[in-house]
Amino acid sequence: MKVLIIGSGLAGATAAAVLKDAGAEVRVIEQRPVWGGQLRTENANGILYEPHGAHILHTADQQVWKFVTDRVEMLPYRHQVMTEVCDRLLSWPPQVSELEQLPQWADIRRELEQRPERARTTNFETWCEDIMGVTLYSLFVRPYTVKQWGTDPKNLAAQWAPKRIELRHDGYRDLFRDPYQGWPRGGYLKLIDALLRDVPVELGAGVTVESFAEYARGTDAVVLTAPLDVFFEHALGELPWRGVRLENHFIPGADHVLPCGVVNHPGLDQAYTRRIETKWMSGQTLKGTVVSYEYPGAPARHYPVEDVEGKNRGLANDYRALVTEELGPHVHLAGRLATYTYIDMDQAVRQGLNAAARILKQADV
Ligand SMILES: Cc1cc2nc3c(=O)[nH]c(=O)nc-3n(C[C@H](O)[C@H](O)[C@H](O)COP(=O)(O)OP(=O)(O)OC[C@H]3O[C@@H](n4cnc5c(N)ncnc54)[C@H](O)[C@@H]3O)c2cc1C
Repeated sequence: MKVLIIGSGLAGATAAAVLKDAGAEVRVIEQRPVWGGQLRTENANGILYEPHGAHILHTADQQVWKFVTDRVEMLPYRHQVMTEVCDRLLSWPPQVSELEQLPQWADIRRELEQRPERARTTNFETWCEDIMGVTLYSLFVRPYTVKQWGTDPKNLAAQWAPKRIELRHDGYRDLFRDPYQGWPRGGYLKLIDALLRDVPVELGAGVTVESFAEYARGTDAVVLTAPLDVFFEHALGELPWRGVRLENHFIPGADHVLPCGVVNHPGLDQAYTRRIETKWMSGQTLKGTVVSYEYPGAPARHYPVEDVEGKNRGLANDYRALVTEELGPHVHLAGRLATYTYIDMDQAVRQGLNAAARILKQADV
């Protein structure tokens, strides 16, 4: 069986590895000059950092965890985040026990007592206000959201808020509660390298609807991980994304500069939203460190925009329908770009595994 995979990010590379191991003839086409998509690790004087943003693998999916740990060694890193509010460093997500030290505590406490039983899902802002009260929302979330999305939070849908916004009463400090968490020794590129070992990859070649037939000639199945609006040359319109840019600073001689892997900066006094020190994840003991400043508003496809009217989701669904209509049922979508969704890495692996499983099942029939 011959399979074409468009895109060499985690989803495409996962599908490629599974299909190759099952005996398929696999070919990967990648538009960039390097493979791995969002997952890259670079180094400054030996200190690892991630030029496309911090990544922590966390999952409750045992099969995904086994798939990854069979290929790379995962360091037992547990991710903790702090946030700079009112000249203090506080836990993120906010811990109610720490909030008593804030000058606004009387208002915060009253608003917490008056919260409704069910949060309104009208938009992102109403949901957050009902979960944590107006004061906490204004300190921790609103300005960060304005910077991150470049719009009033009222224009954003509530649907993704529960995954990101939480108020804690239990003192649990790790950001994620998943049973499996870690960071690959040596960085994420080790994982992609392991997945693509022995797989032919053509770098620097983008596939569009124009060139698709030529690339797909003679193949039994295709895994498509490219953004569909670009792939179809914007036939139905453009799918908007919000992107981030990272500015990386090497600091010689230091062990660590930040108190943990990520420090959020919600305040509008700085344009960046967070600072990242990958050395906390990589566990390196060399002298020197890299601190990366994350600035929102870059022209990159990082976060799909879930508008409150659901217009963008509707357009993404129209593009999905176009795939079946114009390309046929042997084309399988996987990954964040093709599905126009924010997915974590475990979901990218899961989608790659599922696409490969569907293709192998069809081949058996
Ligand atoms: C700032 C940031 C931080 C994140 N942090 C975390 C985290 O802490 N934990 C976590 O689990 N997840 C995190 N994620 C999510 C994670 O990055 C993704 O889940 C994962 O990388 C998605 O892999 P993918 O293969 O779907 O997409 P991508 O990595 O984008 O790969 C798609 C590939 O397809 C290529 N391509 C696109 N179009 C074409 C074309 N037409 N022809 C050929 N090739 C094409 C692209 O160049 C790219 O290499 C984060 C994401 C961002 C943006």
